[in-house]
Amino acid sequence: MEQYDKPLPLPSAETREFWEGCKRGELLMQQCADCGTYRFFPRPMCHVCNSFSAEWSKVSGRGKVFSWVVVHQASPAFAGDVPYVVASVQLSEQDDLRIFGNVEGCSPKDVELNMPVEVFFDEITEDISLPKWKPA
Ligand SMILES: [Zn+2]
Repeated sequence: MEQYDKPLPLPSAETREFWEGCKRGELLMQQCADCGTYRFFPRPMCHVCNSFSAEWSKVSGRGKVFSWVVVHQASPAFAGDVPYVVASVQLSEQDDLRIFGNVEGCSPKDVELNMPVEVFFDEITEDISLPKWKPA
């Protein structure tokens, strides 16, 4: 593992399970234990039924590009990576379930609306693996 000099996620009480899942190679989403609605980012209450009861569920890791930007000018930590893609990926489990991440494994100019993608996990430190996306 190379030295990683970019900002790192700081797992909190609400996000720790998500990051632990990423470390195991599993994409986990919070799911309402009462109505079954998934939600991201993690938060205490269901936005559909207002339940405070939730569990973590492994999802397929498949989705499609909902929106994206190609970054050409970045802060110093990311300057060596340009151009790179940051996408909002709509997961196949639910239309309003979206997560941001880099799309890699193709040229930034080849990213398209609704392009099928699948998750992979970039092991950046001993404790953190970042979910990223590649063409499916
Ligand atoms: Zn609910």
